[in-house]
Amino acid sequence: MTLGKPMSAKVREMNLELNRMETIFQKERLVSAPLMVQLPTGTRCNLRCIFCTDRTPAMAGAYRDLGLEEFIPMAHGLETAATVQLWGWGEPLLNPEYGAIFDYVTANYPGIQINVSTNGTLFDAAWHRRLLAYANFSLNVSVNAATRSTYRLVTGTDLFGRMAANLRGFGRRLRESAGGCSQYSVSFVVVRENLHEIPAFVDLAAEFGAGHVQFMDMMAINPSFGVISAGSEGGRVRELFAEALQRAAMAGISIGTFLPYGEHDYLAMDKYGGGAVAAAEAEEPVALKPCYEPWRNMLVSSDGTASLCCRSGLVTGNLRNDGLEGVWNGDIYRFVRKTVNSADPPDVCRNCPVKLGISS
Ligand code: SF4
Repeated sequence: MTLGKPMSAKVREMNLELNRMETIFQKERLVSAPLMVQLPTGTRCNLRCIFCTDRTPAMAGAYRDLGLEEFIPMAHGLETAATVQLWGWGEPLLNPEYGAIFDYVTANYPGIQINVSTNGTLFDAAWHRRLLAYANFSLNVSVNAATRSTYRLVTGTDLFGRMAANLRGFGRRLRESAGGCSQYSVSFVVVRENLHEIPAFVDLAAEFGAGHVQFMDMMAINPSFGVISAGSEGGRVRELFAEALQRAAMAGISIGTFLPYGEHDYLAMDKYGGGAVAAAEAEEPVALKPCYEPWRNMLVSSDGTASLCCRSGLVTGNLRNDGLEGVWNGDIYRFVRKTVNSADPPDVCRNCPVKLGISS
């Protein structure tokens, strides 16, 4: 049965309140459901970013789209979630059934906040209008370069012009609309190849009409990524980041960072030098901060595998086999809730930027 919009809003509100209480009391088994669920829509992509998994033509068969029929069972339980992230490891708009999935969610879970993350190359006027008509959404566009030449280097494609035209168009339509986009951000994974463009990226974001820029560190998903990591360039990144902050303040844009180089991370950098790894080796014990991720979020990948958070990659079950409730109150979630804020957190959490207070 589909709840109407007012009833859906009430159910979400009650779930949020209950979740707050259960988080305060650090309950292990939750009556409240996750506040945010990331559901996958496929893994194919039209770019070949140097910090991503192998996207060479030989690997094309390893990636696939999720059809609507496959998606529907995974959506069960979204009645209470405040937000659904409708994207996964790939470009969602490449999936020919993405529109049908989007319509299914908006029709069956009215009022739910939808988060879309795209690389922007297929984000055309029709999609601008569709999202703006739904109104209750947030958008992130993964751009990762401020110029065409760096974009080519980082993404392996020459689609900078198309992406930029799409984002300028969206910025214009957003300004002309009655609102509804809770956040329009552009993101930038910092690697050696693009770090010199950190300040210019803020200018580009302003040109696109974005309100937020998210800088991120590269995920070390491949041992060979050491050569592109900006990790050894911390001092330079901090200087560039300071300039980016000034430009952002002038443009009225907010900046977020998962980097160990950000404004609020200077202290951590000075103390630990290289961020999390160095912190783990620090002589003095580091005062660990609380983490509430296991009470709030669930991430699901295309085969139904559920994981705790993007930082741990800890598998918590399989949505297809165990269902949302089974995963949410399964052994792994309960174990992490019991231990994450104890004096003896799980190994995957001990050096996490959240626990170290380097990231939120
Ligand atoms: S401490 Fe870090 S790794 Fe552990 S649950 Fe929280 S965000 Fe995930």
